[in-house]
Amino acid sequence: MPQRLLIPFGGAAPSAHHLGKAHLGGKGANLAEMAGIGLPVPPGFTIPTTLCALYYEAGGRLPDDLKALLPEGLAHIEKVVGMEFGSATNPLLVSVRSGARVSMPGMMDTVLNLGLNDVTVEGLATRSGNARFAWDSYRRFIQMYGDVVLGLDHYLFEDALELMKDDRGANLDTDLTAEDLKALVGQYLAIVENETGKPFPQDPTDQLEGAVAAVFGSWRSERAAVYRRLNDIPESWGTAVTVQAMVFGNMGDTSATGVAFTRDPANGDRLIYGEYLINAQGEDVVAGIRTPHYLTLAARERAGARGLSMEEAMPVVFAELAEMFKRLETHYRDCQDIEFTVQENKLWLLQTRAGKRTAKAALKMACDMVDEGLIETDEAVLRVDPAVLDQLLHPTLDPKAARNVLAVGLPASPGAASGAIVLDSATAAEKASQGEDVILVRIETSPEDIAGMHAARGILTARGGMTSHAAVVARGMGRPCVSGAGGISIDMDSRILRIGGRELAEGTVITLDGASGEVMEGRVPTVEPELSGDFARLMQWADGHRRMKVRANAETPEDCTTAVRFGAEGVGLARTEHMFFGEQRIVHVRAMILGTEEAQRRSALEKLLPSQRGDFEAIFRIMSGLPVTIRLLDPPLHEFLPAREAEMVEVAETTGLSVAAVRRRVAELHESNPMLGHRGCRLLISYPEIVEMQARAIFEAALAVGGNIVPEIMVPLVATARELELVKGVIDRTAEAVFEASGKRLDYSVGTMIELPRAALRAGEIAGAAEFFSFGTNDLTQTTLGISRDDAARFLGEYVEAGIYPRDPFVSLDVEGVGELVALAAERGKAARPALKLGICGEHGGDPATIAFCEEQGLDYVSCSPWRVPIARLAAAQAALRNKQGGKQAG
Ligand code: ADP
Ligand code: MG
Ligand code: MG
Repeated sequence: MPQRLLIPFGGAAPSAHHLGKAHLGGKGANLAEMAGIGLPVPPGFTIPTTLCALYYEAGGRLPDDLKALLPEGLAHIEKVVGMEFGSATNPLLVSVRSGARVSMPGMMDTVLNLGLNDVTVEGLATRSGNARFAWDSYRRFIQMYGDVVLGLDHYLFEDALELMKDDRGANLDTDLTAEDLKALVGQYLAIVENETGKPFPQDPTDQLEGAVAAVFGSWRSERAAVYRRLNDIPESWGTAVTVQAMVFGNMGDTSATGVAFTRDPANGDRLIYGEYLINAQGEDVVAGIRTPHYLTLAARERAGARGLSMEEAMPVVFAELAEMFKRLETHYRDCQDIEFTVQENKLWLLQTRAGKRTAKAALKMACDMVDEGLIETDEAVLRVDPAVLDQLLHPTLDPKAARNVLAVGLPASPGAASGAIVLDSATAAEKASQGEDVILVRIETSPEDIAGMHAARGILTARGGMTSHAAVVARGMGRPCVSGAGGISIDMDSRILRIGGRELAEGTVITLDGASGEVMEGRVPTVEPELSGDFARLMQWADGHRRMKVRANAETPEDCTTAVRFGAEGVGLARTEHMFFGEQRIVHVRAMILGTEEAQRRSALEKLLPSQRGDFEAIFRIMSGLPVTIRLLDPPLHEFLPAREAEMVEVAETTGLSVAAVRRRVAELHESNPMLGHRGCRLLISYPEIVEMQARAIFEAALAVGGNIVPEIMVPLVATARELELVKGVIDRTAEAVFEASGKRLDYSVGTMIELPRAALRAGEIAGAAEFFSFGTNDLTQTTLGISRDDAARFLGEYVEAGIYPRDPFVSLDVEGVGELVALAAERGKAARPALKLGICGEHGGDPATIAFCEEQGLDYVSCSPWRVPIARLAAAQAALRNKQGGKQAG
């Protein structure tokens, strides 16, 4: 079938909504669908999104065959409404509307009342018997066309309008008479001619072609581009254009225009929510020129507003509208966001789409609709966007509270936090241990700040992007974080934070909103997250549809407790190095690293053993029988080395070495590329005594806690099977030694991270020694792409903008590249060992798109930060449901 360039709707046209939103745009598809079920929709036609690309290919010109077809589209409309485009006696007017696959509210352009000129305006006046309405429509048209198509500043027109109103002593547009408006039109035409050097286009066909081209052109406008970037909308989608017969809300007091939601989008309540204006056209309601009134009496009374509600002013049409809402909800089985116009008491629908809603409203609507029998639980689960749950999982600022904003940075990690400013990590840890709420404020953070970040309620940095150390770690910990707040500076000498023209001493209380990036003065009250009510119900349904397990990345008792509270089914990654950074421990860790003799290292490790054992006992107790994957020591050495003089002195005292010797040893251990240096299993192979200590701590802790704990011990950064075999050998020997000494045994498993391309390629061999694989997609992304995560912020934004990667590959898995390695490793691993358990534990484990990929690959579980567990549970359920649906459709 040759591609159709115009797709009609309304009248006798068969509904074409099955062509879908990708082709017709959301607006076009829904107009076709509404017309198809007999709702009152003005007739029109849609030019599909595919033409948008052709328009750009032609260098911003309408393709000739499209131009040739426009009269055919108009003929369809003319036939339905019995009017004629360009007629001097009975002129048809149309709107030219944009509409992308997903709604981009207000991002693109629309032209109303097209087809008016100096002749047709008279025809409209005579035919309608309403000259005021005709001239009002003409002045609106010239302004919109001038702005959208001719690129004139709308202020030019608005200023002229204001002057006219002043001159006539008119308060509102509606106070202007036909004569006033006619005079205004004269001025508008002069403005156009002055500004463009050409008269306003009088030929309706020229007008139409100009408007269609301008709507395509608005797809690449600056604001549309920004919106697309923020919402991951590909530029290749393009916009459709819908040309539709005008209906008029500006024909007097029996005419009106409005917008409505079928349920309250803020809290989900089942009531009609919206606004309308009498004697007005579409844009007026949102433009704020006149104050719109409520639709329902109840809403007006609640707000104590005086203007009559539509329910009171137009009771008959309102009842019809309410009936229409019911039909729309029954048909779409979802809350709708609707645009309507009343022309002389006749109701018309101009747009419907799924209403955007807050997380709270999304959950309530989904649950209510199940109770109402509108949808099944699987559909309720699919309805809620997992990402919005984030809004509910962190304490949030009380929306009613006042905010005094001092600075705005990047919204790096959501949630709200208040506390005293603290300028270094040691002080943060100290103050927090005394029970004080603190906000850690740094130029930027480094791995050394982990303890301080953990102790802090929130983190604020002057430098660094959304994937900076501060941002990534804060998200992992569930700490609110504002990063890259360029307007702040820190004076470490006088310990002062300069912010928003103020100087705040350390200890002054501030509040962060990690969802908006705002930094505020004082303590702004918050509301706590709750996993109850509708939220809990939906999660239960999700769990019923889910196949993959969801675990958490957690190592502290607090994180483990949070994980369990949010429904984690185990720990997928306990990072033991975090335990090494503790106040009392780091000095022993340093002594161990600096030790040149095995005996020195062993003596330092001896001191670490009891605390490690304690850590593991705590985790096992909290997770009570759920699987726990513990990763052996992983990070690059330099993260542990003493850097400051005081630290060197401290290590010297502990080890009995001279400060000079310590300094020499630190220099010796310096690496030029630590991320690819002596770390992970390489360190464990050089110093097997570390493995011994950690394995011993794990086994002794598991035996001490008792029950049916099956520890899973994970070896990091393996590239070859031999590496894993060597480390596994030490683990197995240690197990035997512990079992023998204690007279008790337990089951355990040994597996590996797959985080290097070589490991993925040689997964078959590696599976010989591994009982499980956990995809460490942070490192796997770094090493596959050859991009260092810590340095990526500088250029990744550009990369995403240029479409090199569709999204930040450190946030959402690069499915094509890194994903292929995951698929390959899964396949080769399973072929060698069918019972091999597969999971993912990178930052990506909490990303819904990545979770969908993991479901397709048949992974057994995903593991993510405790605060993202509910998001992952929902995303995993959706992935399972979609896979099932896809399978059904394919089969
Ligand atoms: P947006 O996508 O920005 O909402 P729309 O294409 O929906 O743009 O149009 C803007 C306004 O014009 C809306 O209020 C809409 O209801 C109104 N409108 C669009 N087409 C018509 C029409 N044919 N008759 C009357 N009003 C219209
Ligand atoms: Mg609209
Ligand atoms: Mg790693």
